[in-house]
Amino acid sequence: MLADIDMEVAATRGLTGRDALDARVMQAMRKVPRDKFVPRDLQRFAFDNGPLPIGHQQTISQPFIVALMTDLLEPEENKTVLEIGTGSGYQAAVLAQLFRKVYTVEFIRALSEQAAKRFRELRYDNIECRTGNGYLGWPEHAPYDGIIVTAAATHIPEALVQQLKPGGRLVLPVGLPFAHQELLLEKDLQGDTQVTDILGVAFVPMIAEEEAVGR
Ligand code: SAH
Repeated sequence: MLADIDMEVAATRGLTGRDALDARVMQAMRKVPRDKFVPRDLQRFAFDNGPLPIGHQQTISQPFIVALMTDLLEPEENKTVLEIGTGSGYQAAVLAQLFRKVYTVEFIRALSEQAAKRFRELRYDNIECRTGNGYLGWPEHAPYDGIIVTAAATHIPEALVQQLKPGGRLVLPVGLPFAHQELLLEKDLQGDTQVTDILGVAFVPMIAEEEAVGR
């Protein structure tokens, strides 16, 4: 899996501007057992560099994308990060190797509870999760050094920009279905924001704001 990630990093270097990912990110990818986050009947694909279904019409993301988005957050041991879209919990587990504290929000209760159980069993003690509407972020623990959204939104959610620290980074796929662009939003120390396109990606859609509020 690690070699496949390296190959895809090399193949996309013209777009991402990266020849290699941070060695600490690759170390975290090596350490977290992806098979523990993949359904039992798909175990044989657990270390392939592809997304896999996890039920509820959701997917665990492709390892290359997990690694790239983690790298874009510029992890440090003293930083906190918010993830929107816990899903299987795999991305959160990778972040937990590199950040002091990971907060993660999932809309679908069954997925959130299953991920919480995994975190307990695997002793990822620095992850806190809750069921909720990720469009609203998690204001109680804000501001965050980094925010990552692992479902595609139609626009950059304002609440997430507000909950980002000055100097922080927000990484998210945005766009129309099947035409998402991975974006990096950087907030400078004055609070001004700058958005950079990174790479075309395919993500499951973020459950719409109105729909999420109504459920
Ligand atoms: N990061 C996950 C992949 C998640 S797939 C992993 O590592 O496995 C996207 C997830 O986002 C799904 O579980 C989906 O239920 C969740 N999601 C979609 N819309 C959301 C919303 N509005 N708020 C919170 N979570 C949402």
